[in-house]
Amino acid sequence: MKCIACDQELQNYSELKFSETSIHKLTIFDEMTIICCQDCGIGLVSKEVDKDDLSEYYNSTYGGLAKKYALSDIDSPIESNTIDSRSISQITLINTFINIDKSKKILEIGAGKGDFYNALRKLNLNPTYVTFEPQKEAQERLKDMGIETISKSFTPEDCENRENQYDLIIMSHTLEHFHPSTINKTVQSIHKMLKPGGYFFCEVPNADLNKYTNAGERVVPHLTFFSLSSLDLILKKNNFRISFLKTCGNLQYEKDAKSIIECYEKKGMFAFEEDPNNKKILRNIYYDKFLEYQAKRFSRKNKILRLIVKIIGKRVTLKIFNILGKIRNATYDEVLSSEFFQYREDAEFIRCLARK
Ligand SMILES: [Zn+2]
Repeated sequence: MKCIACDQELQNYSELKFSETSIHKLTIFDEMTIICCQDCGIGLVSKEVDKDDLSEYYNSTYGGLAKKYALSDIDSPIESNTIDSRSISQITLINTFINIDKSKKILEIGAGKGDFYNALRKLNLNPTYVTFEPQKEAQERLKDMGIETISKSFTPEDCENRENQYDLIIMSHTLEHFHPSTINKTVQSIHKMLKPGGYFFCEVPNADLNKYTNAGERVVPHLTFFSLSSLDLILKKNNFRISFLKTCGNLQYEKDAKSIIECYEKKGMFAFEEDPNNKKILRNIYYDKFLEYQAKRFSRKNKILRLIVKIIGKRVTLKIFNILGKIRNATYDEVLSSEFFQYREDAEFIRCLARK
């Protein structure tokens, strides 16, 4: 077997297990190991994972929290007002290379609940926007926001009829969910879909597992674990020119995942039970209880909100909450001093801009 990044025969490798997880998981994650190339630092899951199982998992269980949030937000009479420091920092970086204006066409692969698009809108940037998103609850949210959404996981075949179309393609915390066997083809298809001179923005965890042994990066359900040099190699061999490649965020050496896991273990957060509807999924009992608690909390909050709307009317409620939201929001100095704006070595996220 050859390494998908440095193309060396995988003879020098370490084999690691996934960390215990506080969410639900596919049983296959207990059977798989992560093979880490000693030459370039990339980590690759040791088995093929069935696409349908994975998609079922993302829709039914992985999105559990997102689902509850989405549902409660749909019921909520007011729009969320929070400032997303991560998206703002990403846009700030991208904007130094490409001016995101009305004329630009952007594709986001794995848009989640639309945080990036939301941040663009708040900054008065209105490019044409298209997304691929496999999670049903997230899809509903994106459609509510008026974003054109292709409701599926992106596959390399999807680049057909989309060649040379986009000025910018975004993958923020998405590529690590792709299986190692599809990574090169996916990056190739992104290259095809970009206009000449277009940019690919990619952010993934800085998961050099040989180097950061206690940073907690052996995360379920990630399938590929990137080091700085392996991402660099993959982009270059698929004909990209690197414009920017650095790590940002908190420092990996300062994390102590082992202590956190021990603490979670004491709290009984790793109790699993077979999903009665799907033998391939292990449900975390603690997580289910947590979701139930969250849902109750949101439903209480929404009941109060609806009562207020009934008494003083929607328009006035919105106005008041808009003002309250602005007061409660992070200030510009809090945003600018957040970890997402700190570019330094050995930090937790790899951020990259590559040009076609
Ligand atoms: Zn390698």
